[in-house]
Amino acid sequence: MKILVINSGSSSIKFQLLDMARESVLASGLVERIGEPQGLVKCILKPGTEKEHVVKKTQAIKDHTSGMRLAVEMLSDKDQGVIADKRDVSAVGHRVVHGGEDFHEPTVITAEVLAAIEKNIPLAPLHNPANMDGIRVAQELFAGVVQVAVFDTAFHQTIPPHAYHYALPYELYEKERIRRYGFHGTSHKFVAGECAKAMGRSLEELNLITIHLGNGCSMTAVENGKSVDTTLGLTPLEGLVMGTRSGDVDPAIHAFLARNCHMDIEAIDRLLNKDSGLKGLCGLNDMRDIHAAIAAGNERAKLALAVQTYRNKKYVGAFMAVLGRVDAIIFTAGIGENDGVVRTMSLQGLEPFGISLDREANTQRMTKPTLISQAESRTQVWVIPTNEELAIAREIKVVLSR
Ligand code: AMP
Repeated sequence: MKILVINSGSSSIKFQLLDMARESVLASGLVERIGEPQGLVKCILKPGTEKEHVVKKTQAIKDHTSGMRLAVEMLSDKDQGVIADKRDVSAVGHRVVHGGEDFHEPTVITAEVLAAIEKNIPLAPLHNPANMDGIRVAQELFAGVVQVAVFDTAFHQTIPPHAYHYALPYELYEKERIRRYGFHGTSHKFVAGECAKAMGRSLEELNLITIHLGNGCSMTAVENGKSVDTTLGLTPLEGLVMGTRSGDVDPAIHAFLARNCHMDIEAIDRLLNKDSGLKGLCGLNDMRDIHAAIAAGNERAKLALAVQTYRNKKYVGAFMAVLGRVDAIIFTAGIGENDGVVRTMSLQGLEPFGISLDREANTQRMTKPTLISQAESRTQVWVIPTNEELAIAREIKVVLSR
């Protein structure tokens, strides 16, 4: 069973073709700088095998349709390609960022489903239109193939009302659907499942704190396998300190900036989303650069690291209170999987609560699920590599088997 997974952004499309019999990657690639004078399509065919072959094309890419068409040409190449006939593809899966309250699980895309994704555009004005572009292109290029949407928000639809409501006038929830939705759901669900497997336990009996630390960052409290709270909110801005996003701020900062710094709402939105977080504090948003700057004596970089890891720890404490018993804490994504210093600082001082890292295990390079806590640690700590494409493809396999 071949499944093509598409993650379509405003000016780029990531794609991966998976063979689900072996859960192996047949091809993966990226279409970049759509709509700019010089675009790029890159595709790695049969990665990790003797026949690995990289194809690149640099040219103007007018829109998502022309970008995806180039990608499909590479995938279908007579000599090197991995799709002999488009009917060999069992399904195309799409990552869709905001499903609002309409979607609790992966859903076969129909005209009604597309209309519902469109209805949720006000909740994700940058992401949902781009996701819809990807769906339309795939519907055209893979006519007759089942298209499935997998929503970033779906895993969090089990969060109870007392955790998803903001203390705002209730009408704003009724009329505008303002509430916590949460994101990175596919990643949180995937690493929770992989951790259960690694622990040899059933997910339904586990309480977990999953920490996704990449460019975007979020933490989820998982009770008996279900999301019961998460740090991202109505939009992907709340909670942890991210690469360029502020995470939690006093909501009155908006009014302060408007009154005292004469910023309009667009400028404030940009400030909080694009110029804050690690970048706002020290000018750098890549954790590797921050460590290099700290080594060179940069005090602001040190502060940025301290602010991010302190916020992580504060939310670990909050979610321990939410869950009561925590069987495991999981770190994942670019920083979570690779950065032992961030992991150590995020859990420093939590030994009295039954969380003790194994210093040696925490510093090794990890490409598979790895236990990094001491044997006597009441709460285990794991590094679990996330794989959103595989997670999406697995969800689609379940939909197809129904
Ligand atoms: P992601 O969004 O999951 O792709 O994560 C991207 C972020 O992970 C980058 O911006 C880096 O800050 C971080 N990252 C990637 N590799 C490393 C590494 N080896 N050590 C520390 N941080 C890393």
